[in-house]
Amino acid sequence: MTRPRESWLRSEDDVKWAAAVARCEHPATYCGSDGFCHYGTCFAARDAPDLALEQRVQRLEDQVRLLRRALAQERAFRRAAQVAAREGRA
Ligand SMILES: [Zn+2]
Repeated sequence: MTRPRESWLRSEDDVKWAAAVARCEHPATYCGSDGFCHYGTCFAARDAPDLALEQRVQRLEDQVRLLRRALAQERAFRRAAQVAAREGRA
């Protein structure tokens, strides 16, 4: 059986209807009787996490962290250089 669809909440097929109700995560159970999902998200595609994508995001986040650190060091260095210049020690 394929993944339950929201339309199955209106299905005459008890098995399909039950599968759709089971998938619906709304705490109240009236989605099954109303024939549509009150959350609206229970039947959206929930694919398995894309591991390659997550690793790429992780690498980018690491790079951003390194760049931020380098930028902060650069700023600190410039500030120190300005102070030194002001004090005539540059
Ligand atoms: Zn739902």
